[in-house]
Amino acid sequence: MLQDGLDGRSFFGEAAQGLTYDDFILLPGHIDFSVDEVSLATRVSRRIPLKAPLVSSPMDTVTESTMAIYLALLGGIGVLHYNCTVAEQVEQLRRVKRFENGFITDPICLSPEHTIADVDAIKQRHGFSSIPVTEDGRLGSRLVGLVTNRDIDLETDRTKKLRDVMTRDLLWARQGVALEEANEILRRSKKGKLPIVDEQGRLVALVTRRDLLKNREFPDATKDSTTKRLKVGAAVSTREEDRERIDALLEAGADLLVIDAAQGDSIYQLETIRYIKDRSEAVDVVGGNVVTMRQARRLIEAGVDALRVGMGPGSICITQETMAVGRAQASAVYHVASLAREYDVPVIADGGVRTIGHLVKALAIGGATVMLGSMLAGTKEAPGEYFYENGVRVKRYRGMASLEAMEQGGGKRYLADRQRIRVAQGVSGTVVDKGSILDYVPYVLQGVRHALQDLGCRDLATLHNRLQGGELRFERRSAAAQAEGNVHGLFSWQEPPYGSRTRWAR
Ligand code: GDP
Ligand code: 5GP
Repeated sequence: MLQDGLDGRSFFGEAAQGLTYDDFILLPGHIDFSVDEVSLATRVSRRIPLKAPLVSSPMDTVTESTMAIYLALLGGIGVLHYNCTVAEQVEQLRRVKRFENGFITDPICLSPEHTIADVDAIKQRHGFSSIPVTEDGRLGSRLVGLVTNRDIDLETDRTKKLRDVMTRDLLWARQGVALEEANEILRRSKKGKLPIVDEQGRLVALVTRRDLLKNREFPDATKDSTTKRLKVGAAVSTREEDRERIDALLEAGADLLVIDAAQGDSIYQLETIRYIKDRSEAVDVVGGNVVTMRQARRLIEAGVDALRVGMGPGSICITQETMAVGRAQASAVYHVASLAREYDVPVIADGGVRTIGHLVKALAIGGATVMLGSMLAGTKEAPGEYFYENGVRVKRYRGMASLEAMEQGGGKRYLADRQRIRVAQGVSGTVVDKGSILDYVPYVLQGVRHALQDLGCRDLATLHNRLQGGELRFERRSAAAQAEGNVHGLFSWQEPPYGSRTRWAR
């Protein structure tokens, strides 16, 4: 029989060295389907299916509500970071749960006692000037008027109160109205804004004409089939005082709790798993991080619904250098995934993914999903503002165990905060502006679909079966092979929009 390369077991099993994504290449399969037929459907945990195998990392420069909302719309799932108070994390979660495509569910409001100057300030800061006016100036209070540009543009006295200039004769719709219906009302009335109110006339959302034009559909969105709410994960620590956080997140409707620990094989983690499982049967629990089969088995036996794999491969991470403990990421994912498969527990390959190719490899060696930090940092949906560094537009990206983040509380993950001296296991830096994930993620996913086609696999289940069955073939890449596989011998070249690692990783 013609067989090139090695099967996964021989390749990883016999390797005396820890291997990572750049160390190997996958050999092609036979194509008998088009790229449109490739499905990337998977599960992030036992009970949460996804249409796209992407998870955003619980880091304070990666995942807050906006990232979680847009990644879920695209078929992945976000995990909210916990480098903040319980109340702040719960508010982030509520924003995701409140989100309805096309509706602004947290519009900025003012009260009748505010002035035109307050509207000017909002316009200056956010770029829009249509403001619903509610009794006490907050969302959830009775709607009494609406201020738009036309009410105030010719007014010279900017200290005038809104109660004297706002439009009181309002067009509105009742909560529960379908987006199509709301759009139709806007179209017929030729108005620019449609406030949405509940039975008591309290403002709950706003629909704008401008959004009507740019509205798009998200057929792959990760949402609950009955409530239609987007699904979202949240990170928690193993510390005793975070039990309150766990309770609050469960109460607010978290779908997935990720126990965030650099070394997941600890009694603290086992106690936390037990605590969550006692509180809720509905929530899925992700245990981790682990890199060996022994660590993984302990968490599987404790009842986790998914495993997060990786210790030290992250782009901002210096754990391996500092602690001398960890594992090369491809070896970690392969070995943990082969054990977890026997228990039907999905594996999240966390960290060290810089390119579409790495993402494909993480899936090919058994990952059900891939957790991204640096690839999603620097997008419009990541927290933080853009700024310029040496003429390049960047956003901040930092490890949760960098000294900077630990000062805000990130050290919870690294068991360091009880001691006075904190040892950094991460760095703080910047990443280049990548635009919106609404453009970037579809590009990445299409790349993964093409890769699966090259491998001759229509879906991830086939890929994993071929890995297990030994039909998926691996070959080691020498340093020369890696150089050959990259751009070489050119004086200059055109960078693809997202494909080159040199553009991001300076
Ligand atoms: P305006 O007429 O000056 O308010 O601006 P437009 O209606 O032309 O554009 C407002 C844009 O800002 C839309 O794309 C909205 O989705 C977006 N937006 C985001 N948050 C808010 C908000 O709280 N209020 C309003 N009015 N718009 C918002
Ligand atoms: P990236 O996608 O940037 O390569 O890696 C992101 C992952 O790095 C995160 O999901 C998390 O597991 C890990 N990570 C985040 N912050 C730190 C840190 O400060 N130190 C270490 N060791 N790992 C980190």
